Amino acid sequence: MNSKDVVIVGAGVIGCAIALHLCRKGYRTLNVDRNPAAGFGSTANSCAVVRFSYSTANGIKLAFEGHHYWKHWASFLGLEGAVDYAKYVQCGHLVVKTSADDRQDLLNHYRSIGVPFEEWSRQKLLDRLPIYDGDRHAPPKRVDDPAFWEDRKEPLAGAIFTPDAGYVNDPQLATQNLKRAVETGGGRFLLKRTVTGIRQSDGRVRGVILDSGEELRSGIVVNAAGPHSFVINRMAGVEDGMSIKTRALRREVHHLPSPEEFSFQDDGIVTSDSNIGIYFKPEPGNRITVGSGDPACDDNTWIENPDEFDRNVSELQWQTQVFRLSKRIPSIPITNTGTGVVDLYDVADDWTPIYDKSDLGGFYMAVGTSGHQFKNAGVVGALMAELIDACESGNDQDKNPLEFTGRYTNLTVDTAAFSRLRALNAESSFSVRG
Ligand SMILES: Cc1cc2nc3c(=O)[nH]c(=O)nc-3n(C[C@H](O)[C@H](O)[C@H](O)COP(=O)(O)OP(=O)(O)OC[C@H]3O[C@@H](n4cnc5c(N)ncnc54)[C@H](O)[C@@H]3O)c2cc1C
Repeated sequence: MNSKDVVIVGAGVIGCAIALHLCRKGYRTLNVDRNPAAGFGSTANSCAVVRFSYSTANGIKLAFEGHHYWKHWASFLGLEGAVDYAKYVQCGHLVVKTSADDRQDLLNHYRSIGVPFEEWSRQKLLDRLPIYDGDRHAPPKRVDDPAFWEDRKEPLAGAIFTPDAGYVNDPQLATQNLKRAVETGGGRFLLKRTVTGIRQSDGRVRGVILDSGEELRSGIVVNAAGPHSFVINRMAGVEDGMSIKTRALRREVHHLPSPEEFSFQDDGIVTSDSNIGIYFKPEPGNRITVGSGDPACDDNTWIENPDEFDRNVSELQWQTQVFRLSKRIPSIPITNTGTGVVDLYDVADDWTPIYDKSDLGGFYMAVGTSGHQFKNAGVVGALMAELIDACESGNDQDKNPLEFTGRYTNLTVDTAAFSRLRALNAESSFSVRG
């Protein structure tokens, strides 16, 4: 054991990004993952949407800084030779506006932070996306609500367009890219091994115990276990020292073909539509993926054991999401069978992630990503590496939280906003919007 040895529990996009930034600071990292490959956990089923429409200034700054990593992906990774890189598709993002003064808070944040945006009239929205219906359909309802089709049909006020936003075409490949960069930098991976215990003594972490019975010694352990984050925090005995905790939430996203008369793959825009309670995005193969915007009427299935949950698309949720989408895109061809993916979000109490130390010396966490932090992997890796390095050099993160400055935007993020000890973030949407 060396004071620079780090075990990272998880080789998803977050664990791999943390490893890369730590390696570049001279740490010796080992990512342990129960899966046979990096990025096979919840990352694999991510919609990988990159948008900036968060409810707090810190959330927006992190996402705006974060998207530059995708824009500069190959140079950030610094890999040599022929590499199949994940691609950033910069198709832009729309937030549909119900009333003329809708989302003024968001626009004020965009102005003060410097996020480029355009305000689109209803007509501009329909000119650009002629397959869209231009009416309001609020409030969102479930398809089993007898009033599902009874909408007042008033005109939408328009939309907010951020041209820099988009999506990453292959989240698993992006994680494999990170893994290769970590290995190039000297970091290592131990796959097909499950962490079953956290070694500790005298108030300090000492490593991890594996299902094989092996013990790995390290003075630093990082919890990047995605939807299993609460399991690892309980193993470490740190949950009681957290005012914000995490839980696993089951979520479905569904896939549909684009209407024949329009290529959503080439000309579509990622759209957040709180009017009807969904978000949707272009997908390779001229398809559209639709997910829930977490309206209050949708069920939340909290999962006690993240190893056991129903991975089948449910009839009710599939119908709810695709019929909601058909309100915005009436010509969408709806297939008889529901196709899509089911996976877990790692949700924090206020849907804001926790990027922090813990009460156990040397034990850190990057958890509670709440269905919306794939986009931030690059910047979260940098933030966590800086936070860990500062703590290991004697800084007390609880008393003197790191002011993290992004390398691309020079924006400063107050990491107290991501503390495990924070008060519930009252500005949060308490949904995947963050
Ligand atoms: C359906 C869906 C859609 C999403 N859409 C978006 C989106 O559009 N935009 C966006 O920004 N974000 C989105 N997200 C969220 C984003 O995908 C996650 O925030 C991100 O992928 C989390 O990465 P992670 O590395 O923390 O978790 P994971 O990828 O789940 O990685 C955690 C790893 O830890 C391993 N592990 C767990 N316990 C143990 C153990 N005991 N021992 C060893 N290994 C262990 C797991 O095997 C897993 O590989 C979405 C998520 C889902 C599920």
